[in-house]
Amino acid sequence: MSVFHETRKKNIRAIGFFYNPNIHPSNEFKKRETYTKYLFKKEKSLFIRHRSPAEEFFLITSIFPEAPARCEACWMLRLRKTAEFAKKKRFNAFTTTLLASPYQNHEKIKAIGEYLAKEQEIDFYYRDFRVFFKEAHAQARRDGVYCQNYCGCVFSMIEREEEKNKKAAGHRSQVTG
Ligand code: SF4
Repeated sequence: MSVFHETRKKNIRAIGFFYNPNIHPSNEFKKRETYTKYLFKKEKSLFIRHRSPAEEFFLITSIFPEAPARCEACWMLRLRKTAEFAKKKRFNAFTTTLLASPYQNHEKIKAIGEYLAKEQEIDFYYRDFRVFFKEAHAQARRDGVYCQNYCGCVFSMIEREEEKNKKAAGHRSQVTG
């Protein structure tokens, strides 16, 4: 996990907080939880799995059914829970592994983190963790660690399936010419 490059170097004690009511279906949630837990254990870091009822995610999608507003609300929901937890436990700061993804709207996530830092009165630890993405991904493959192939929610799962089908159809028409 790319965040560990930074925490190791700076001697920061990172605690894993797993709150993902967006992840669908339950076996995907389990896979991601298992491997995240494994990575934290490997780093000898504490891992906390927070209750993640799907209703909390579907409540926001009933208000914001379409991306990008849906995604912004999803990041806000997950980051707010993280910031609240960090504040309650008197940690120095909170951050998010979303900052490591080249597939997410990095600037928007940064802005949400900064907004929540003010709202919750706790520091937001910002770094552009994307610089570690390639290496972390390669390491995960070497370790046989599960790598997700869609963002997480049922909507992103369907989008991914549609993309795959489109590509496969394109390939078939090239072959049959
Ligand atoms: S696509 Fe990703 S960020 Fe957007 S709502 Fe779904 S899980 Fe959340």
